[in-house]
This record gives sequence, structure tokens and C-alpha cells, in this order.
Amino acid sequence: MMDSDARLVQEILRLKQARKAVILAHNYQLGEVQDIADFVGDSLELSQKAAGTDAEVIVFCGVHFMAETASILCPDKTVLLPDMHAGCPMADMITADGLREKKKEHPGATVVCYINSSAEVKAESDVCCTSANAVRLVDKLADRKEILFVPDQYLGHYVSTKTGREMILWPGFCPTHIRIKSQDIIRLRGEHPQAKVVVHPECRPEVVALADEVLSTGGIIRFAANTEVQEVIVGTELGIIHRLRKENPDKRFIPASEQAVCPRMKLITLENILWTLEEMAPEVKVPEEIRLRARTAVDRMLEVA
Ligand code: SF4
Repeated sequence: MMDSDARLVQEILRLKQARKAVILAHNYQLGEVQDIADFVGDSLELSQKAAGTDAEVIVFCGVHFMAETASILCPDKTVLLPDMHAGCPMADMITADGLREKKKEHPGATVVCYINSSAEVKAESDVCCTSANAVRLVDKLADRKEILFVPDQYLGHYVSTKTGREMILWPGFCPTHIRIKSQDIIRLRGEHPQAKVVVHPECRPEVVALADEVLSTGGIIRFAANTEVQEVIVGTELGIIHRLRKENPDKRFIPASEQAVCPRMKLITLENILWTLEEMAPEVKVPEEIRLRARTAVDRMLEVA
């Protein structure tokens, strides 16, 4: 680490203590951001951490909907997002107005919304899910006549195949995960015949069909720690490779595609984390009326989780 980075880290840690803050980072964050975080995890793990922390300030190193989820769960805490431009393009593919229109076409449908959605969209939904619990959650809705799944059509498709449940799918997708192609997996399998292939369910169905395991990022981390195999082909955003290599130095992790980079996740840097702690801004605060309705959907998910 360069001297300037070491100074930055020192100053972040000092201010973090002074502000009684906790730093939460998603598995897709830059390596140096993961390294200074108190906790690194997937969306579900991070929302559970946010719900359970006794810190007064949460610095959320991830994208906007994740900071919103922390604000939904912890209205009394200050939730900071070091760069307000760190939004999720998939979450932006659906609006509350758009969802209300769709609900009119399917009155009575149960709306399951992926956590990658705005607080307003969560407020219009019956239950929230993450990629770690979506299958279990939809399984529990066996008595519901119709399910509308938003906004990720590929996660929705995967859940449908696992549960045998037909669902109405919103046509959203992750622009980063669709960069992983089935040809990438076929080529890498040829080059590494002993390797296992693990992919995230945001990948295209033809990529998912080629995988040995389909897991959330938290699931990929656990799989890597427990597997007997020495080589793993990893089909998700590249940031996770840092943590996989750090925690499993004796194993080899091969990205399914070098193109799978989420530019919004990479907007969070050591510099803007320090700035956010100095200025106590920008803050993400969900308006109370929306928060209460969104909270119901998130709480239903956490009960199942
Ligand atoms: S990786 Fe995809 S789903 Fe995740 S934040 Fe980036 S665009 Fe959104």
C-alpha cells in the first residue's frame, strides 16, 4: 500500500471511531474498500448487519438501494453513501408508477421484489427477496394465485425453474451480469477441466444452465471456503475475486469474464469514504410514509431469512 493510502486508511479509522460509525461493504466493492470495512457481505447479510448494529452512523459502501434498505431498517441512524451517483441500473429499470400500472393489469397478484429496487418500489410490493432467499421465499407463496416478480427477469426465471412456479416477470436485468456469456463458460471449462463453475442468478439463463452451482455472492464465498476443488470459475461481478483470493490463498479463482465490472459499485473509494465521514454527507433517508410500507416488505423477507 502507498503511503498516501496508509494515511487515508488511518484517517478513516480515526473518524469512524469519532463518529461512532460502522462501515459496511458489498462483495463487489474495490479491494481497498473491502479491506477497511467492518463487514463485507451480500445484500442480505448487509441488511441483517444494518438491522443489528448499535453504531450511530452507517457508511454504506455499495449502491443506493442498499443504503436505502439500511435507512428503512434503521430510521434512527445516519446512513451515508459516499457517492450519490452510485445507483444500480437494474433498480432504475422499474419505477413505483410503472409497478402500480402493472399491478392494475394483475389485480390480486402478490408482488415479490428483488432487494435491487428503490424504497418506493419496495413500498408497492408485498415481500422483498435477495438472491440468497428468493427460491425459499417463492416456495412459501404456494397458496398465492399469481406472482409478479420485479425487476430482474433473470433471477425471476431462475426462481421459476427451481420452484416450478410460473411468474409474471418484469423485464429488468443487470447490465454487468449479462456481459458473462455462455461461450465464456464453455471456453474456461475446456481450459480448466477440474474446475467447478459457480454463477450468480442474475446471469443469463443459458449461463446459469451451464453452472455447477447458482449462488448469491454470500453463497459463493461459503462455497469457496468449503469446496474440495482447487479451481473455481466465478460468474459474477469481479470485485468478489479480491475477497475469494484473500480468504482462500491456496485455491485458484478464475473470473468467468473480465468484462463483468459494475461501474457504479466502483464509484466508492477511500477518498470519498473519508470525505463522507468528515462531512457526514451525503445522507440517504427514506421518507417515513414510504419507509413504513417498504419496511413491511423487508420485514417479511427477514422473517423467512
Ligand atoms: S452488479 Fe448489477 S445488480 Fe449489482 S449494482 Fe451493479 S448493475 Fe446493479
